[in-house]
This record gives sequence, C-alpha cells and structure tokens, in this order.
Amino acid sequence: MALSGPYYSVQIVLIDFHTHTSASDGALDPCELVARAQASNIAQLAITDHDTMVGYEAAEAYHRQRPGGMQLIPGIELSCRWSATTIHVLGLGIDRRHPAMCHALEVMSAARAERAVKIAGRLAARGFDGALEGALAQAGDSQIGRPHFAAWMVEQGHVDDLNQAFDRYLGQGKTGDVKAFWPELAEVVGWIVASGGVAAIAHPLKYGFTGMKLRRLIECFVAAGGSGIELVSGRQTRDQVEHLARLARDYDLEVSLGSDFHSDAPYGADLGVESSTARGGLRGVWERWPSAGQGA
Ligand code: AMP
Ligand code: MN
Ligand code: MN
Ligand code: MN
Repeated sequence: MALSGPYYSVQIVLIDFHTHTSASDGALDPCELVARAQASNIAQLAITDHDTMVGYEAAEAYHRQRPGGMQLIPGIELSCRWSATTIHVLGLGIDRRHPAMCHALEVMSAARAERAVKIAGRLAARGFDGALEGALAQAGDSQIGRPHFAAWMVEQGHVDDLNQAFDRYLGQGKTGDVKAFWPELAEVVGWIVASGGVAAIAHPLKYGFTGMKLRRLIECFVAAGGSGIELVSGRQTRDQVEHLARLARDYDLEVSLGSDFHSDAPYGADLGVESSTARGGLRGVWERWPSAGQGA
C-alpha cells in the first residue's frame, strides 16, 4: 500500500543484513534474534556472525517453523587481512554447504582458536594469567573472540568495563590485537563468491583509513571479485552515508544495510534499517532476494 485516504501513508520497509547472535559475540541466541526481528517487522534479515554459521543454522531451523513473512538470508562476517589491518567482509546469500564455505569455516575456526592462544600469551606477558581458560569459559559454545577476553578481564576486576578492556589491551594496535592468523582479503572474497554469495565490505569507515586508502581497499576488493559495500552499518551520520554512497557509485558496487546489532548496548543500533536509505539509483544487495521486501 503506497497511499490511503486523503493522507499519505508511506510504507517503510525495514531490512537488516548485519546482525550477531550468541554463536559469536551477540547477546541473543539465534531464535531470540529471529523472534525479535519478526516482532520489529523486519522484512529481510541476514545473520552475520563472526566466522561461524552455527547461529544461522539454529535460526534457520527455528524460522522454517514460523517464517511469519520475514525472509532469512544466510550470512557471515569473515575476518581477513589487508595492508596490516583486520578487515571484515560480509558474505550474504552464501551456500554454507558449498565446499569453499566448508573450507572457509574450518580455516576460520582454527584461526580463532590459535589466535586465542596467542592473545592469552600476550596478556600473560602483561601479568594477566589464566586468560585462555577464562575467555574460553566466557565463550562457552560461541566462536571465541576478543569480546570474550574483555568479558573475562571485567569479571576478574582487571578493568572496569568492556570498553576499558579494548582501550587498554585488546583494541586496534594494543597488545591483544592479533591479526596474524587471518587469511588475506582476496582469499576470503574468493570463498564467498565461490559459494554463491555476494561479498560486501563491512563498516568501511571503521578502519581509520584515509579516503585514498579506502579507495585502494575497494580496488583490491573488486579485483578479488567483491561487489558490495555497507552503506549503513549501525549508527552513522548523514555525511558518512553520502560518502559511502559516492564510493558505491564510483565503483559500481551494490549496497548493503545493517545494524551490526550485538546487544541492547547504549552505543549500538537497534535492529532494522529503512531500505529507502539507499536512494538515487543505488542497487541494494537485497534485490537479489526479491520474494520479500520491496514491491512484494
Ligand atoms: P574479534 O572478532 O575477536 O576480532 O573481536 C572484534 C569484536 O569486538 C567486534 O566485532 C566488536 O563486536 C567488539 N569490539 C570491538 N571494539 C570494541 C569496544 N571498544 N568495546 C566493545 N566491543 C568492541
Ligand atoms: Mn562483534
Ligand atoms: Mn565487524
Ligand atoms: Mn559485525
């Protein structure tokens, strides 16, 4: 419905192609996330946990029983290296059973396990003993990452809160920022494309790159087969969205929209982005899955 009565009633379509569950570092379990997205009237949801699809699998089983008009898209957020920086690449619409993705999931799981040992060693050198056991206990069945080390440091009273853990010990450039185990950007993009998905650069403005360097990243990404970029990733200013829209046009990239939802943290965004944020001839990745959302 576009118009009704004498008043305009503009239909707002909410979508979200960047979300986390408790299978990585999100607070909600996969079923809770699906239920919450449905309650928020999200038309299309992609689950994009860090380097795992275990959360998606659980969500898919739950969603199949009660789709409720929402489309669920298989996704992942893969960690990789480019120019000495950790870059995150979203893989959307991938076939998780494709041999390339099975390989990717094995590689990334092993990389995270080895990296955790290395992070713990670095923390031990700073006088924090027992970090590996502590972080593993925090992670439980989840794919281990720096947030679990941060949670352990808070629990132990080494820091006041998660932010302080990242600021002092785990954030970019700090002792626990271990990148060595990630595959190269081109390899990760290759896995996504081979398994039938679209690769999109996640939160392009969060790497602290200059405009020139960001363009170089996009050029390498496109050369590797990447075709998408996040236009919205959580809270952004209008200027940031316009900057990214310009890059999408310059490199003829499809755009993705997401909240990067992890939990109800005060600094985070809630689920759902208005699909109309992508105006002015930009192509949305969601147009690849037309059965829900726009015009459906
Ligand atoms: P990892 O995937 O192990 O490299 O950990 C990175 C994750 O840590 C990101 O996806 C965020 O969810 C989280 N993170 C990064 N910086 C911060 C911060 N300053 N405070 C809280 N969480 C953070
Ligand atoms: Mn995260
Ligand atoms: Mn990320
Ligand atoms: Mn994310």
